[in-house]
Amino acid sequence: MEQIDVKNYKEFDNHERVIKVEDDNIGLKAYIAIHNSNLGPAIGGTRMYNYRTEKEAISDALNLSKAMTYKCALSGIKQGGGKGIIIGDPKIDKTEELIRTYAKKIDELGGSFITGEDVGLSEEDVQVMFEESNYFVGKSGLAGDPSPFAAQSVFYCMQAAIEDYMRATSFDGVSVAVKGVGKVGSSLVDLLVKAGAKVAIADIDDAQIDKILRRYSNIEVVHPKDIHRFNADIFAPCALGGDINDKTVLELKAKIICGGANNQLAQPEVGDRLHKKGILYVVDYVANAGGLINVVDELEEEGYSKERVMMRIQIIKDTIKNLIALSEDQDIATSRFADMMAKCIFNKDSNA
Ligand code: NAD
Repeated sequence: MEQIDVKNYKEFDNHERVIKVEDDNIGLKAYIAIHNSNLGPAIGGTRMYNYRTEKEAISDALNLSKAMTYKCALSGIKQGGGKGIIIGDPKIDKTEELIRTYAKKIDELGGSFITGEDVGLSEEDVQVMFEESNYFVGKSGLAGDPSPFAAQSVFYCMQAAIEDYMRATSFDGVSVAVKGVGKVGSSLVDLLVKAGAKVAIADIDDAQIDKILRRYSNIEVVHPKDIHRFNADIFAPCALGGDINDKTVLELKAKIICGGANNQLAQPEVGDRLHKKGILYVVDYVANAGGLINVVDELEEEGYSKERVMMRIQIIKDTIKNLIALSEDQDIATSRFADMMAKCIFNKDSNA
């Protein structure tokens, strides 16, 4: 394992360290980014994705680990932000040997990075990796798959948003366009349909669409290129990052953006543009924190408790209501306000 210099990346943001993890014999190439551990050892999922270049993979690792620092701070979690990235197509390159080797490397870090599943890894993969290292969370029978909990926190945030922004007391008649119906997106669709929302979906993978259509007949399917400009009250990005960018911001029809994806804003300035347009942006790292809150509970001294997890996830609704009120009061984008609040927490705690 080798520490690499990332100071010349625009996403650098004073990252503490980035480690390259390689094993040529089995084709493992991975990066572990640790953004900030002021609040505690870094935590963040591991993503396996077919990045086109190493630069793209490192940039993603930097952005995602930074978001974890902010997510921990605003969720009251005493952990720092980190992220693991394995380069490769999970459908082709993911072998048991590869994930075991990755897990052994995580173990060598001695607990300075704790990880679990993200895009491209599954609960089953985590159980295999757990055999090689204790520094994994999301164990079957305990926290398990974090995605339904991430979807639950997104759902609570949507509730807060429609109450504040649309004066709606229920999802009856509220329309939601969900981009990406994988683990988080499909759980969110379940919650929305149950609550009476009108749901439209898009995914680049037809198999994911089919799974939803087998469960529900009254769901509209939209082309992935059009879902952000679909005429719905809420746009819910639940695929990868960067869906709110210079181009899409001009085309959005929704009044509210609230989804599970990490790093939805392509640049921070896009948050200001949403604010100016009167579109409520429910900050991604607040909305999807339920997944983290769930897995981090395994680290509690008294052991994992689903009741405590659900109680903590419900608190996110108050966090987002506060954020909406403060952003309106100060006329500052929700994304800027959340960043300021998070920075205060992780910088203040480090000086305490
Ligand atoms: P996933 O891989 O299960 O689902 C992502 C889905 O998005 C897939 O079905 C994929 O085909 C689809 N997709 C990809 N690109 C697309 C595009 N351009 N247009 C339409 N669909 C597209 O991943 P997931 O675990 O559901 O994670 C989704 C997002 O939520 C990620 O940004 C992830 O970091 C974030 N997140 C996940 C968790 C979790 O517990 N899994 C927790 C918090 C945040």
